[in-house]
Amino acid sequence: MPEPTFDSLADCLDWVEPRLLEAHQNKLERGQPAEMPTDIPWWPAGYAHDAEGRAFEIAVGAVLTQNTNWNNVEKALANLHAAEVLAADRILALDDETLSDLIRSSGFFRIKTRRLRSMTEAWLDAGGRVGLQARPTNELRDWLLGIHGVGHETADDILLYALERPVWVIDTYTRRLFHRLGFPETATKKYDRLADDLLTHTLEPTAPRLARWHGLIVEHAKAHCRVKPVCGDCPLIERCAYGSGLEKGE
Ligand code: SF4
Repeated sequence: MPEPTFDSLADCLDWVEPRLLEAHQNKLERGQPAEMPTDIPWWPAGYAHDAEGRAFEIAVGAVLTQNTNWNNVEKALANLHAAEVLAADRILALDDETLSDLIRSSGFFRIKTRRLRSMTEAWLDAGGRVGLQARPTNELRDWLLGIHGVGHETADDILLYALERPVWVIDTYTRRLFHRLGFPETATKKYDRLADDLLTHTLEPTAPRLARWHGLIVEHAKAHCRVKPVCGDCPLIERCAYGSGLEKGE
């Protein structure tokens, strides 16, 4: 891989962010479908009408999106909403068979039935969004990681989007992007260490800004930085070690 063109991760983040944001805005202006709507913070949660319901809906989506794409999650959320059970107490009142049927579209539905039930029980025990908001972020992360079926990425999805805590969500797209931009260690670094590195190097790392970062990376990964990248009109090619190497045939 060619030499990186950035002096540091901070330099990289500062350069990348406005370009991904501009690409996103251009996409919206052209009327193309964008992963991230204009209203930031980004997370597709549209059924709840209050903060508690929205936070719980996001937590449900974070569990259901494990190992599947969002379209499949949307169908499951639509089913839960249509059955009028997209609320913690109502989900717990369902038997496993009914709950499995409602979330079947999200795949691995028997595993996810158990995981969703565990998360929902923990959510209610903790006093829902209001109870959770009173706790510090590190304590919340430990609590989330202690729930059956909640790993680092799911925990950080919930921390960032449901509980509005300033954390980086590390997913395959994030690792791939920074690896290709010239930071090969990001492909294999332990989740916690990479999340800390990115947080440390983000200028003014507020929750809305980090929520936007994740949305921008997802959108960019789907449009350009795929497994087989589409580098031609990528807004980052000018300083992308991988993309410019491909152009030169390296
Ligand atoms: S230039 Fe290619 S490899 Fe680099 S970020 Fe863009 S799509 Fe990904």
